Amino acid sequence: MSKNTPPLVPMSNPDITEAERDAVMEVLRTPHLSMGPQIDAFEKSIAVYVGADHAIAVNSGTAGLHLCVRAAGIETGDLVITTPFSFVASTNVILFEKAIPVFVDVDPQTGNLNPELVEQAVRDIEKGGSAVRKWLPRRGAENPGKLKAILAVDVFGQPADYDRIKKTADDHGLKLIEDSCESLGAEYKSRKTGLFGDYGVFAFYPNKQITTGEGGMIVTNDANAAGFMRAMRSQGRAPGDNWLQHTILGYNYRLDDMSAALGCVQMSRIEELLTKRQQVADWYAERLSEIQGAEAPSLTPETTRVSWFVYVIRFNPGLDRDRIAAKLIEKGIPVRPYFLPIHLQPYIVDLFGFKAGDYPVTEDLGQCGLALPFSGKMNEAQVDTVCQMLRECLTSLG
Ligand SMILES: *Cc1c(COP(=O)(O)O)cnc(C)c1O
Repeated sequence: MSKNTPPLVPMSNPDITEAERDAVMEVLRTPHLSMGPQIDAFEKSIAVYVGADHAIAVNSGTAGLHLCVRAAGIETGDLVITTPFSFVASTNVILFEKAIPVFVDVDPQTGNLNPELVEQAVRDIEKGGSAVRKWLPRRGAENPGKLKAILAVDVFGQPADYDRIKKTADDHGLKLIEDSCESLGAEYKSRKTGLFGDYGVFAFYPNKQITTGEGGMIVTNDANAAGFMRAMRSQGRAPGDNWLQHTILGYNYRLDDMSAALGCVQMSRIEELLTKRQQVADWYAERLSEIQGAEAPSLTPETTRVSWFVYVIRFNPGLDRDRIAAKLIEKGIPVRPYFLPIHLQPYIVDLFGFKAGDYPVTEDLGQCGLALPFSGKMNEAQVDTVCQMLRECLTSLG
């Protein structure tokens, strides 16, 4: 952003009230700054909300996804089918274990994993031999191990196509990990996200639907996995271990009680928070329908409820997204391209040798998408301002 133009509207803005501030202060008056009662309460609130048997609080969404990868038994060289159109964390957790991401291109409408390609990839990899090659990266996968799992992402708050992805996973004995870090409260065929696979993860960075500052939550109905994850998040302490006993090698992925207290109040307001975000999205959609060249996000019939995370519009082919973005920023409207494809991130290219053109749908979406300022705290006048500036930029370029 240019130094002399302060943004007219923040890119994102957490919705924090006196109640959140009081709850955090209350924890600071107790001796339980970590592993106290707020963690249990926060875990319970999410478990009840999504209908999960187990909820495990962790200190980031990434930490949660990493524990899912561990629980799924993914090891060095194993193959994991995933999407290149996501925030990098969904692929990074596979790399943490030196496993190999098998990228599959996405659906052009939703930006979520294309279920047909997932099925094809699984079949080809099962066939073995030369059929496997075309799904693997150019290098870094010379000795591929077993195909172990599918890691799907609910992009921008819209659930992936779980009927079909889950069927493929079940038919072939694969674990399914749901990265629901962008979709708390979203519904696929009237069922909330988080539990479509073996384990799901929510994230609470300040731009997410609810925030704890940093934080994440794993949900699962698998009691064994839940026990393993609880041990792994706390230095490998198994149930019954005392503070200095460590049955297995683990991490410190614990959330603290101040953050959990913040999360509890945010969860008590979840319906209000989601409704406000929906209202802002509606204001945007209304105005975008009258702007030539830019399209509002599109939802499938299976998405019975979207949970708006970011608001990403698409420019028509031929329009220079980057020039429009630069102009908007100049005018004080913060915007962000979403996403730079994962397979083209510099460190991924170094590791695996991907090239532009490898995942055309992902690259297309990455070229034409732009996230507008978005939060439940935006008012209608701010949406007007953003859309007015957008209209001016499009006109001056047209
Ligand atoms: C936010 C997010 C995460 C987790 O992010 P953290 O910053 O580690 O909490 C993971 N995957 C996706 C797709 C996300 O958007």
